[in-house]
Amino acid sequence: MITLGFFALGLILGSFYNVVGLRVPAGESIVAPPSHCPHCGRRLSALELVPVFSYLFLKGQCRTCRAKISALYPAIELAVGLLFAWAFHRLGWAPELAAALALASLLAIVFVSDVAYMLIPDKILLVFAALFVALNACLPFRPWEDAFIGSAVGFLLPYAVAVVSRGKMGGGDIKLFAVLGFVLGWKNVLVAFFLSAFFGAVIGGAGLAAGMIKRGKPMPFAPFIALGAWAASFFGTDIWNWYFHFLSD
Ligand SMILES: [Zn+2]
Repeated sequence: MITLGFFALGLILGSFYNVVGLRVPAGESIVAPPSHCPHCGRRLSALELVPVFSYLFLKGQCRTCRAKISALYPAIELAVGLLFAWAFHRLGWAPELAAALALASLLAIVFVSDVAYMLIPDKILLVFAALFVALNACLPFRPWEDAFIGSAVGFLLPYAVAVVSRGKMGGGDIKLFAVLGFVLGWKNVLVAFFLSAFFGAVIGGAGLAAGMIKRGKPMPFAPFIALGAWAASFFGTDIWNWYFHFLSD
């Protein structure tokens, strides 16, 4: 029952994170003006603001101008709902729950922002960095030295990749990994880094083969970082142990 409550909370916040991810990089306020159709500008009714269902109900288009609504938005809402429910299911009322919810929130926002603008705004990273430090002080989720070493590893590894590959890794991605390192610790941020590279290669490669991604066109990397970081946050230790066991066999 409470898990269902977290699912509903995630759906509603997911809808808000779409707004944050779309407006902050554009330098717009996240509270005003109220949600409107980006195509015809008509203000959305209360019914049209219901997460996921409104998309299904409207069949993915604006009621007035018939402009298509991107499937990304209901997908983000649903994903945040599921991530919140999963976090509560796994952690219960543990102090780590707050950090897990904040992490899911950060990942959803940078996902939207990077897909829409190829950009991860510093403002968002700074707000979340401050939030994670405050959370670790009130509801500890990680020893401080592991958090700070994680942050350093999270910064240096993608930075080295950016230097070697001459900028294939964006500055936003590097800073995002630094924040993620604080949350995940040094072991799991390594797992997150390699998982996101793996997801990027597999999913990006499949998208290229299917013609959904054009060769030579820059691809937003935050969606893969989001996948990698989320998987590492819950399964990082298992993946780490499995990998080193596999190597020592
Ligand atoms: Zn419209």
